[in-house]
Amino acid sequence: MQKKQLVILGSTGSIGTQTLDIVRRYPDLYSVYALTANTSVDLLASQAREFNPAAVCIADESQYEPLCNALRDTDIKVWAGSQSIEHVVTAREADVIVAAMVGFAGLRPTIAAIQAGKTIALANKETLVVAGAIIEEMSLRHHAPIIPVDSEHSAVFQCLAGEDADAVEKILLTASGGPFRTFSKEQLRGVTAAEALRHPNWQMGAKITIDSATMMNKGFEVIEAKWLFGVRYDQIEVLVHPQSVVHSAVQFRDGSIKAQLGAPDMRLPILYALSYPDRLQTTLPRVDWLATASLTFEQADTERFPCLRLAYDAIARGGNMPCVLNAANEAANLAFREGRCAFTAIPEVIEQTMKKAAYLPAPSLDDLFASDSEARRIAASMLG
Ligand code: MG
Repeated sequence: MQKKQLVILGSTGSIGTQTLDIVRRYPDLYSVYALTANTSVDLLASQAREFNPAAVCIADESQYEPLCNALRDTDIKVWAGSQSIEHVVTAREADVIVAAMVGFAGLRPTIAAIQAGKTIALANKETLVVAGAIIEEMSLRHHAPIIPVDSEHSAVFQCLAGEDADAVEKILLTASGGPFRTFSKEQLRGVTAAEALRHPNWQMGAKITIDSATMMNKGFEVIEAKWLFGVRYDQIEVLVHPQSVVHSAVQFRDGSIKAQLGAPDMRLPILYALSYPDRLQTTLPRVDWLATASLTFEQADTERFPCLRLAYDAIARGGNMPCVLNAANEAANLAFREGRCAFTAIPEVIEQTMKKAAYLPAPSLDDLFASDSEARRIAASMLG
């Protein structure tokens, strides 16, 4: 295998740091061309010292000076501002772009990387949620393959290896159900952000952990799966599987089902996305069959977790509705983390925003940026 040069967008986040752990394990196979972060200047600087990239970018321009100072005695180029991130992903030396930024902010740099014909290891799910139709078309046109990093989509991707797309009957996306899986509607009204941030199986960033608790994360994954695997949304079924060992499955037209299983450790799907189509030897955790004596499955409850239903509604309506869904969710998710709205208000704000926002059946990229702003304004007016 030829050594691959990576650009890691969002290197200081959960996926970013775990991607660097993979790079650390395979120094002969991977090196870092560039690292980018939003605001975490100290961690970015220490990562740069360890991995010695050609360049680092910090989105927050006020952190430019501190970052320059921290790397003064190195020859690492320092950039600031979101424009510089779009620039660095198109560098000739970059082979794989790991898109691990959080939220809508991941869209522009991912598009720039696709247009430059790079291989995208996609962890930022908002990219496909907001602009799935446009991204899929661009990826084909620019021969920029999108390899999923998300554990569910990595599982489906692995199940589909060697299979004919026409033979797929159904995609079964598993969901842990999050920390409130067994809570009543009444109990859900009083939960706090601190409780929601205690996810039973996965270590993730704050935004996605809250999305997991509301099950919006699973809704986004349904939308992502539709675009990644070219299926209809009604061919995607969510199955709650609290042990998070079966990462997802594909049911074929002959009734046969292939599932992918593994320990709940994000480094495994990250490793597969980087090594695909090869499988590398690793000492990462194995499934302990005897400790996981039972694997259980239950139906997702959209009564208690309406965000999942709203995501299906958004993709059924199509056009800019998934973009509106995402924008309203980002606003409500943040408001909940800041104690400005109740857990059960999150789906209410999203539903109202979807009702009030202008519907565009075939939006351009510019339309989506405008729709994102409009939806954030509408959501903000309800959040105070
Ligand atoms: Mg996932």
